[in-house]
Amino acid sequence: MSRGRKPKLLVFDLDYTLWPFWVDTHVTPPFSKKSNGVVVDSYGQKVTFYEEVPKVLEELKAEGYLVGIASRTGEVRGAESLLKLFGWNAFIDCKQIYPGCKLKHFKKIKEALDVEYEDMIFFDDEQRNITDLRTVGVLSILVKNGVTKNVIQVALDKFARGEM
Ligand SMILES: [Mg+2]
Repeated sequence: MSRGRKPKLLVFDLDYTLWPFWVDTHVTPPFSKKSNGVVVDSYGQKVTFYEEVPKVLEELKAEGYLVGIASRTGEVRGAESLLKLFGWNAFIDCKQIYPGCKLKHFKKIKEALDVEYEDMIFFDDEQRNITDLRTVGVLSILVKNGVTKNVIQVALDKFARGEM
């Protein structure tokens, strides 16, 4: 049984948080899905994601959490295309994908979903973004090797205890 506070919204970065590459550098759009379900880039190179991510997103949605994306990539079309090809849009309530400080992305997400910063958790692999979001009171988790079920559980436990 869960105790303590629960967040309303979990927000994820993309590059090196949900998938193990920079979408503007390491892979080459346009992307497509082959008949066996594998997503490839324009050179036929397989495009992957951190293994547990689809299950994580599905379970968060099933448990009633809102899910957001905040990415500062310049490869907006490529990122959007991958989210579609991976089938993740069904689990995502708000996407903000464009370069710049993530405080802007979060202001938009806050307005779009009507959720306060203190009711969010943010996951990102870059310390500069973590630092920015902590200034407005978002519980921000530095992700080292991609999002996993364990990363989520540790964050939810931290939130429940009211830690920052
Ligand atoms: Mg990143």
